[in-house]
Amino acid sequence: MELTQKLSAAFNEQIKAEMWSSNLYLSMAIHFMDQGLEGCAHWMKKQAEEELDHAHKMIEYAIQRGGKVNVSAIDAVPTTWESPVAVFEHVYKHEKHVSELIDKLLDLAIAEKDKATEDFLWGFVREQTEEENTAKSILDKFHIYGVHGLVCIDKELGKR
Ligand code: MG
Repeated sequence: MELTQKLSAAFNEQIKAEMWSSNLYLSMAIHFMDQGLEGCAHWMKKQAEEELDHAHKMIEYAIQRGGKVNVSAIDAVPTTWESPVAVFEHVYKHEKHVSELIDKLLDLAIAEKDKATEDFLWGFVREQTEEENTAKSILDKFHIYGVHGLVCIDKELGKR
């Protein structure tokens, strides 16, 4: 069974969203590099790589299933944040948004009765649980350590 047109189009949208996410995290990495927060910058660079990897996995899957993939223009991403904690609040909010996008894509696969795509997407559902949890635990650290904990957090994130 080939991907239906609806699913193929939805995959293109999700691939675009993953690439946008990658650019968002790269922009956050640059923001942290500017501030000399090398650990935070390192964490964001890894995060950006991971998002690009998600896009590539989806591209490969869609092509394997006879989908038509196009590389489209990616919208501009934010470049400034008020504080380091504001950056991680944005990460958490963004990951919750991505979880919703993945859920909608899975709903479509179910509606289109495409079991293989369902199976493929469950991996991303699990991945999103992890992403949300990681972002939330970094935010918790900011609240536990307080503003003076930034140096400790930067050091910890540099170990990723
Ligand atoms: Mg992703």
